[in-house]
Amino acid sequence: MTAAGLLPAFGSRAVTLPGETEIVIVGAGLAGLTAARMLQERGRSVVVLEARDRIGGRIWTDTSSLGFAVDLGASLLRSADINPLATELRNREVRLQPDEGDFWLFDQERSGDPVRDAEMHDYDALGFAYDKLDDALLDARALRTDVSLASRIKLEAGGPAGRWIDLAKALAGPLHVGVEFSALSALDAPRLAGTGNDAWLPGGFGTWLAQSATGLPVFLNRPVVRIDWADGNGVTVATAEGQVKAEACIVTVPLGLLAAKDGIVFQPGLPEPQREAVGRMTMGLIDRIALQYEAGTFDAPANTQALLRVSGTRAMSLRLNAQALPLVVAQVGGDYARDLEGRGDAAMIAAARSQLRAMLGEAVDRRFVKGVATQWGRDPWSRGAVAAAKPGFATARRNAGRALTSLAGRARVLFAGEAFAPVDWIGSAAGAWLSGRIAATEALRVLG
Ligand SMILES: Cc1cc2nc3c(=O)[nH]c(=O)nc-3n(C[C@H](O)[C@H](O)[C@H](O)COP(=O)(O)OP(=O)(O)OC[C@H]3O[C@@H](n4cnc5c(N)ncnc54)[C@H](O)[C@@H]3O)c2cc1C
Repeated sequence: MTAAGLLPAFGSRAVTLPGETEIVIVGAGLAGLTAARMLQERGRSVVVLEARDRIGGRIWTDTSSLGFAVDLGASLLRSADINPLATELRNREVRLQPDEGDFWLFDQERSGDPVRDAEMHDYDALGFAYDKLDDALLDARALRTDVSLASRIKLEAGGPAGRWIDLAKALAGPLHVGVEFSALSALDAPRLAGTGNDAWLPGGFGTWLAQSATGLPVFLNRPVVRIDWADGNGVTVATAEGQVKAEACIVTVPLGLLAAKDGIVFQPGLPEPQREAVGRMTMGLIDRIALQYEAGTFDAPANTQALLRVSGTRAMSLRLNAQALPLVVAQVGGDYARDLEGRGDAAMIAAARSQLRAMLGEAVDRRFVKGVATQWGRDPWSRGAVAAAKPGFATARRNAGRALTSLAGRARVLFAGEAFAPVDWIGSAAGAWLSGRIAATEALRVLG
């Protein structure tokens, strides 16, 4: 989707950047826009510099690929009854739609048909296995045991979890945070179990976010290449086409870009402990494949989730009648997503169609219209889906997000974004929103 016509931002490179402002915000995703709005409301002058030609970052409603708008980044507000962003949206009278779809489990291993509906006891076994993983996470947190979650789990294949352990692990790891279960830190993972009250935004999460940026001075197509922060008098934030001097800046680029060799150059460089911390985190990968079908193809409540184990801990989750439309949104994560990305968009679409065909039959496949797939791992401005600390390095997040303090002893460069959110909301839109507010509050304190 391009920003043209929809967004309030300054998309053209011909629009000159202001030479000075109070606070520069790098990145017009949810964290950056939240910080910008809060600072602007407190009477501060801000400039938001965004690399892409659109607002929203990893919250993106694609309006051009299919016959309707579809969220290809974040789509759900998890545990909307306790989610701080959902509360904020309700306060702003944004309509949230409860996510009340059915849950269908498919079993690929039963003899006879290659794939058949699972039995009731299979649902129970999967629920049991998943609860055990969540219990292990809570135990590790209580004991502050910074190891891989996998090492805390003792589930026997013959026990009540039955054959569903791997699928539970796929749900907790690749499908939840984009990393393999074996690489999931027990102290650096959001809660697995939610309250069960998720919600989505009719019209699209990205559509809402783009509209909410109205009136903010967002400059599109302006990748920041360098931040000079040594000067006791402030920071200079440079793009290829001009620079802005400011008292402070808030950097909200995804962690993958802080770690990248071709990422923003900090002058002076990031301090050693911070560089080390960034290196101890990784970007998990989640991708979405959206398939449009003829109207009325699926006899299922909106957003029904169909789960299929592909092999081992590789699994695909498919939302049927997603967003109450004749749409299937498949989600894959971790190594499986990486493999599929390597094979290209057409192969990703084919993989999701083939899973659906295996579950629901040829007749459904004949009603397929067209599809679109994401490649968040290859996206130059995200390099993955959400940040995760490697097992044993749960403190990395805090260290990586430490403010850079210039010679005058003032925090000049603050970090925000999903990667630096409070632990219960890391990897989520709510986390990005919270982190934007925290950074803006800190900037106000620093600037006095
Ligand atoms: C496939 C997928 C599904 C998801 N599903 C959910 C979900 O259902 N629910 C949920 O709560 N969360 C979900 N998330 C997570 C959620 O999308 C993110 O946590 C959130 O959007 C992160 O916001 P952010 O502002 O921290 O980062 P971003 O949205 O990535 O914003 C950072 C911005 O910085 C820009 N940028 C990068 N480099 C530069 C540079 N050098 N100069 C200027 N700008 C730069 C980027 O273009 C981007 O716009 C999902 C994420 C993905 C990828």
